[in-house]
Amino acid sequence: MIIWGWGRVTKSKKGDMFQKHCDYCNQTLMWRLCVKRTWFTLFFIPIIPYRKVYCVECPNCGSYLQITKEQYKEIMEEMKQKRMVQNDERE
Ligand SMILES: [Zn+2]
Repeated sequence: MIIWGWGRVTKSKKGDMFQKHCDYCNQTLMWRLCVKRTWFTLFFIPIIPYRKVYCVECPNCGSYLQITKEQYKEIMEEMKQKRMVQNDERE
């Protein structure tokens, strides 16, 4: 018997992004950039990611906002640039 399923969700955190106020837990914290993938599973093992969602997440309550791939790329670029600036300051 083959056991398969859709819908196992994994989340990878890409790092802290910017301060944002959360309407759900009413706190202003450093939100995280995340990528959520929904997997096709076989015998409960994730095989193929068939859906990818980019989002920013509140670290306190875990509520999130979905963003587009373009926004995700922009934020990633911004984060890289910020890191470069920080490195320059240290030197
Ligand atoms: Zn929150």
